[in-house]
Amino acid sequence: MPNVKPLIEKLEANQILSKEEFYTLLTEISDQDLLYLRERASTIARKNFGNRIYTRGLIEFSNHCKNDCYYCGIRRSNKNVPRYRLSEEEILHCADTGYTLGFRTFVLQGGEDAYYSDDMIVTIIKSIKKKYPDCAITLSIGEKSYESYQRFYEAGADRYLLRHETANEEHYQKLHPPTLSLKNRKQCLWDLKEIGFQVGAGIMIGSPHQTETNLVEDLLFIKELSPHMVGIGPFIPHHQTPFAKETTGSLRQTLLLLSIIRLMFPSVLLPATTALGTIHPEGREMGILSGANVVMPNLSPTTVRKKYELYDNKICTGDEAAECRYCLEGRLNRIGYQLVVDRGDYKPFPNLSMSDKK
Ligand code: SAM
Repeated sequence: MPNVKPLIEKLEANQILSKEEFYTLLTEISDQDLLYLRERASTIARKNFGNRIYTRGLIEFSNHCKNDCYYCGIRRSNKNVPRYRLSEEEILHCADTGYTLGFRTFVLQGGEDAYYSDDMIVTIIKSIKKKYPDCAITLSIGEKSYESYQRFYEAGADRYLLRHETANEEHYQKLHPPTLSLKNRKQCLWDLKEIGFQVGAGIMIGSPHQTETNLVEDLLFIKELSPHMVGIGPFIPHHQTPFAKETTGSLRQTLLLLSIIRLMFPSVLLPATTALGTIHPEGREMGILSGANVVMPNLSPTTVRKKYELYDNKICTGDEAAECRYCLEGRLNRIGYQLVVDRGDYKPFPNLSMSDKK
């Protein structure tokens, strides 16, 4: 194995590499150099965030979806999923529980469900903001028009998560039906950014047909977009999807990508995802030790948790919100970190390059 340490040092210094250099780093890094990379990434995260981990309360408010993404357990064609929707009152109840537990960001996530009109989403945003003006709201409800995004922003939503899934057109088509386009998904991200949201892009590691060249394209697209958040988690098959027999994304590659992202974006908000915790019992801890600085425990009512199964064996589907929070707190404490009561907004750090200050 060649020594890629100089590339790691170059990435840390410049926050970018050429296409060829990224490819070499992804394909030729040894286990020993990966340890070095993870150590550099966690040092940068510690320098910028100390041992403070931001927490977001995830409210999965609907598992209805008009889309049919080949990888997703709640895709429209999966007739075996019992579908549910939370009412405004139920969503507010989740927020109440979350606030008491110390959450200061609520993530409203769901399938693309037209039942919730823009007016309803606006009402929900305003109700949460009225009750909890000190909290941030993150939306993760898919592709909408510029006008809809604008309305959500004006109603008080602060952030928007929309993983681009892959920056390569051909790969995108292998993961999605022809009704969905990468062009539109990317446009949504640019629109969200222009409107003023803190924006999150991201990918699944090891999604079917993904190549290392695709990952390089992802890194270059993420650099160009310069988002405030990056969602990176392993792909995990769901038994009732066309990808049921595909292989799970690897822990090693997920940690590698998390660390590369931290070196590229020292101040980015980077979650150690539930999917990472699903493929390894200490996956989220390893994510934090590879440069992640956010966790997103579940606040959804336990009655619906199992029904929001995007992939098989998703963890924490039986736990109460409080159990999830305290479990994660204990896990983080054991590795020397603490969960903080904080909105955890994106803040560019003063020692960063111009591209990171956007
Ligand atoms: N509908 C919204 C959207 O399209 O962005 C938000 C919900 S969607 C289910 C949230 C994310 O779950 C997707 O962006 C995708 O990356 C992830 N996801 C779906 N199926 C997955 C799987 N089998 N393994 C890992 N992650 C998955």
